[in-house]
Parts: sequence; structure tokens; C-alpha cells
Amino acid sequence: MLRIAIQKSGRLFEDSVALLRDAGISFGSSPNRTLRTQASNFPLEIIFLRDDDIPEYVEGNVVDAGIVGENVLLEKQKTVRCIERLGFGNCRMSIALPRNTRYEGPQSLDNLRIATSYPGILESFLNKQNLQAEIHEISGAVEIAPSLGLADAIFDIVGTGSTLLANGLREVETVLESEALLIVNPSLDSEKQEILDRLLFRIHANRNAKNHRYILMNVPNHRLSEIVSIIPGMKSPTVLPLAAPGWSSLHSVVPEGIFWDVLERLKGAGAEGILVVPIERMIL
Ligand code: ATP
Ligand code: ZN
Repeated sequence: MLRIAIQKSGRLFEDSVALLRDAGISFGSSPNRTLRTQASNFPLEIIFLRDDDIPEYVEGNVVDAGIVGENVLLEKQKTVRCIERLGFGNCRMSIALPRNTRYEGPQSLDNLRIATSYPGILESFLNKQNLQAEIHEISGAVEIAPSLGLADAIFDIVGTGSTLLANGLREVETVLESEALLIVNPSLDSEKQEILDRLLFRIHANRNAKNHRYILMNVPNHRLSEIVSIIPGMKSPTVLPLAAPGWSSLHSVVPEGIFWDVLERLKGAGAEGILVVPIERMIL
């Protein structure tokens, strides 16, 4: 049995649940009533926690694995192994100043009072930049600190930037780009490691599927070699004869990021009846 901790409620909750469900794992998820639940079809126990507690629980072997924001992991400085960047919970951590304060680069932060709930990450940034600043640790509503006269600047998570704007602040320095991570205890026994590998196999199959499209098209045989050269397939594309003489059906897998570009070129080269199909799972 592998124990994994996910956020009980908040910005990472839904995506964490979806990650496990898409991996074919069935479990009840009503963390208001229960703090732990066992999957019915996979040797996994899911524990619902506050995100801030997850790195410590993973380090201390209370749970074997956890899903947590990189920002929280960096702040907590716990000894865990990060094995996967999960591609959700994206945000950045930035320094912001009142709109009218001049900013000419990091040296403008020297000797300011900066309010934050992430003193560790801020301190290491200031040290790297050789800056002296007074760090005011507060646990929430950081963005109102400057208007209350508590601080000259803030260091906080920025999602869209609208909260900063509403508080008359301007983002001047991005310190960290963060996303959700899958972290594990560094000394899992072989049984747990095996379950983790099975989970990772499923996560990868889903991610590969999301990042690719299956394409099929009809191609006149005399254009075949030109068209094959356009397709950046996984391996060589599949070519099958059509009932109509002189034509073939060509199948391949194309990365999501470039398939529009590839489609235009295929069409230009004489491909017809092009179909683009989502892929359910993909194992490389
Ligand atoms: P908890 O009750 O578990 O302590 P929280 O209030 O600390 O929750 P949330 O606001 O739910 O935390 O954010 C959890 C994580 O989501 C953050 O640590 C960060 O990694 C990520 N995140 C992504 N976008 C944002 C955003 N716009 N604002 C805040 N966090 C974000
Ligand atoms: Zn939290």
C-alpha cells in the first residue's frame, strides 16, 4: 500500500484528484467528512492535508508521497525527492511595489521592508542578489501590508495579477515560476517503489496522450514520400493501400504543439480527408 497526501481543499485539490482518477484509480473524495480514503482498485491510500504540511509528512514517513506546489516545497526545505512536475497549479512568486515607487532593478530593493508569507524563498533571493532588506513575515493578506504602512514592498504568489492591481501594486521582479510537484520519501521500500512506478507509468501515459494527436489522411501515391517527410511521427508512419487505385491511407502521431502547422503543410502537399483524433492513452 502506498500512501499519498493531497491538498484537502484549495487550488490543488481538483487537479490532484483528477490526476489520480485519470490514472484509473477509483476512490471517494469528500474530504469534509473523512481525512483519508482507500482506492478500491489500486493499492493506494489518499490522505487529505493542508498543503503546507505535506512536505513535512513526506519527509517524516507519515505518508510516502505527496502533491504540493514547488513554492511550498522550496519554502519548507524538507528532504524529499521530487519525481515529477505535474503541469498544474502554475503560478509565480514575485516582488511587488506600490505603483508609484521607482524601480531600477533589484538594487532598488536594498534596505526596504518586504512583507511575505514565504520568508525562506525571499531570503535566499536577497542573499543571491547581495541585498539587505528587512523581511516581515505575515501569514496572509500580504498585499495590503504596503497600504497599511507595514512594509514598503511585498513578496507573494501572483496568479493573474489582478489582486496586485486592486491594491495599487506593481510586479517588479519574478523570483520563482512554480507548479505542482509529485514528491516522495527518499527511502521507499521495494513494494512501495513498485506501486509508485505503476502510478508513474499511468501518469506518463496520460500526459503523452494529452500532448499528441493521431492523424490519418488519404494521399496520392506519387506524393507519398514528400508527405511522409513532413510528418514528424514517433517512428515511421503507417501506410495502407486504399480501395481506390493510386491512393494510400497514412496514419501517424504528431505532437500537440505543432499539429496545426503540420496540417497546413500536409494539405498543401496534396493530402486529403485529413482526420485529427485525440489519443486516450499513449505508452512510449
Ligand atoms: P491550505 O488550506 O491547504 O493551506 P492555501 O490557502 O495555502 O491552502 P491555495 O490558495 O489553495 O493554498 O494554493 C495552493 C497552491 O496552489 C499554492 O501553494 C500554489 O502552489 C498554487 N497556486 C496556483 N495558482 C495560484 C494562485 N493564483 N494563488 C495562489 N496559489 C496558487
Ligand atoms: Zn497552505
